[in-house]
Amino acid sequence: MAKTKAKGRSARPAKAAGPYLGEVIVSHRFCAARFPKPPKLRDVGDGNRARLIRETAFKWMNGKTIKYWFYDKPARWTADESQENVVRKAFDMWKALGIGLDFAEVPSRQDADVRIAFDLADGSWSYVGTDLLDQPKDEQTMNFGWSLTADPQEGLDTALHEIGHTLGFPHEHQNPFAGIVWDEEAVYRSLAAPPNRWSRSTTFHNIIEKIVPDTVQGSSWDPNSVMHYPFEAGLILKPPKYRRGLSPKGGLSARDRSWVRKFYPPIKPGAARALGRFQSTPLRIAAGGQADFDFTADQTREYSFATFGVADTQLAVSGTVGGKTAVLAEDDDSGADRNAMLRIKLRKGEQVRVQVRMRYIGQPGEAALMVW
Ligand SMILES: [Zn+2]
Repeated sequence: MAKTKAKGRSARPAKAAGPYLGEVIVSHRFCAARFPKPPKLRDVGDGNRARLIRETAFKWMNGKTIKYWFYDKPARWTADESQENVVRKAFDMWKALGIGLDFAEVPSRQDADVRIAFDLADGSWSYVGTDLLDQPKDEQTMNFGWSLTADPQEGLDTALHEIGHTLGFPHEHQNPFAGIVWDEEAVYRSLAAPPNRWSRSTTFHNIIEKIVPDTVQGSSWDPNSVMHYPFEAGLILKPPKYRRGLSPKGGLSARDRSWVRKFYPPIKPGAARALGRFQSTPLRIAAGGQADFDFTADQTREYSFATFGVADTQLAVSGTVGGKTAVLAEDDDSGADRNAMLRIKLRKGEQVRVQVRMRYIGQPGEAALMVW
């Protein structure tokens, strides 16, 4: 996403109060994110349950190290180190907020979750959250389609924005609470023109379409979010003050910071509790919360891990494989009439991390975890 400076880069003079009759020239190049299909929740009768499941959809398990890698070939997908450094800096800025996620650059594509290209023919975009894990392993999950150094603030904001998608955040200007009423045909026309040259479908899915209220950041609108595009005058009809254009301040807004910390709170070392065999361990976490446990196998055999109660949980067991931390098994029962359950073989003395992300709970405190 390209951002305007805080003031005065509107493509139109600021005097007009009514809709423009002429063409709106959009000078910015915009991110065309690749949004996942929302989870199918047809059989979930409880509206609150569906809402809570959607709210946590495509978010990472907190504590994960998201591994990223820059293409070294083909040449048209690579960029010089100064471009890569902007992206590295943006990862560092998200991490510096104190979140529980970690980021690590890895030297090979096989080890990477996030595969980053600089294909100038393809615009800037990213997949959203854990949806990127379902993409073919030889394809990029994030692309930068313009220089990140030509305008340093714009470039950094573009990198922060694409990483925001990778963390699971949608476009803030599509927040239904924004109450934005577009001059739709003006938006379609101006985005079809250079430099974006977007199809109506791309424009619809990245600007016009309102996203499901449950998937946005809270119930308010943040026009300064790094996930918000800047808009020239003549594209927004309402709220009236934005008829003259809208320019986010640039950088991570106060709500970007608080929201990412809410989903990925800091993890205190040693906070994981020990999980005993054949013991029902209560899960005293609200929807959206996560509990971490350590478990040590007392003999070499197959172990079962399961959650109990009227709850939707994402359950993961991570361990060490070849000297690296990796998810060994994962299950998510969200929206289904069953509970999450895993079976994995562990060696005597092997220690694993067991993580439960609560996505919905019927009665607070009425869920538990057990290993046997
Ligand atoms: Zn975007």
